[in-house]
Amino acid sequence: MFNKKIRIPDPEEILDKMPLPANLKKIKKERDKLVTDVITGKSDKLILIIGPCSAHEAKPVLDYVERLGKLNEQVKDKVVLVPRIYTNKPRTRGVGYKGMFSQPDPTKSEDILKGIYAIRELNIKAIEASGLSAADEMLYPANIHYVDDLLSYIAVGARSCENQLHRLVASGIDVPVGVKNPMSGSIITLLNSVYAAQSAQVFKLNGWQVETDGNCLAHSILRGAVDSYGNDIPNYHYETVMQLAESYAKSDLKNPAVIIDCNHSNSGKQFYQQIRISEEVMRNRVYSADFKKIVKGFMVESFIEEGNQKEDIIYGKSITDACLGWEDTKRLILEVAEKA
Ligand code: PEP
Ligand code: MN
Repeated sequence: MFNKKIRIPDPEEILDKMPLPANLKKIKKERDKLVTDVITGKSDKLILIIGPCSAHEAKPVLDYVERLGKLNEQVKDKVVLVPRIYTNKPRTRGVGYKGMFSQPDPTKSEDILKGIYAIRELNIKAIEASGLSAADEMLYPANIHYVDDLLSYIAVGARSCENQLHRLVASGIDVPVGVKNPMSGSIITLLNSVYAAQSAQVFKLNGWQVETDGNCLAHSILRGAVDSYGNDIPNYHYETVMQLAESYAKSDLKNPAVIIDCNHSNSGKQFYQQIRISEEVMRNRVYSADFKKIVKGFMVESFIEEGNQKEDIIYGKSITDACLGWEDTKRLILEVAEKA
């Protein structure tokens, strides 16, 4: 049984009420190009998608993104900083906090309409305050048009990699879409998903038969895998990345590219390991030109305070996956920029 509770207006109606101002639209377009040029190989900068596991409260996220904006001035010749403003959280067992989209106030019950406005307001303010447009995960593909005018990078999560609608909707998105390897770690499944996203598709989306051109900017994210006993299996090491590069070489995929997710099953959710993991990957870039060519950047989970908490008590501390704190984040960004 489904009880229809509240009718949610179409994206057009909400965008009319809360549009992205023209000056910020220009910034977002320029930023799309910066990220795109790294994926296509036109630019040899590194993409750094960095921020909290979930953006559960606007104020600390804006504070964090403003700090990134200032740091960006120092690193922008080497690094394309993309704040993680993640507003939809997949849950391993389907219950718990599902992100700002569902709960704009994590202490209160679900209010999706309020959530959509809260996400738009946060992204608009973030661009205004920092000049940086963000990344989010596309957890619910049918909702993409509530936010796709604001984002410069979109991820498909590990649990969604094999899902048909995610792949089809990714094929119509105009910015780089990073597809995470599935929880099993299957590279074949991952590249099948990238193939589907790069292909032209015809399907039904929100009351329309739509046609897409295919998204040639769709690429891979390695986030580590989990075995059938729940053990984490990292996949950021040299051998795994080179195997992915070989699989790309044998395929007819466009723009071979991978982003290394330093947290999740690569760190075994030991957030502090993200520093060592990014350092190892940077070293491997020096060791091998092929490795360097395919690795386009990193995803890092970071916030103001390190670690995580069960409830939102401490300002700027994650309520989902544990994150690096600000000082370590700053060091990591500067180090990646120095070695890029
Ligand atoms: C995330 O990026 O926070 C996340 C949930 O990732 P994954 O899909 O890799 O678990
Ligand atoms: Mn996470």
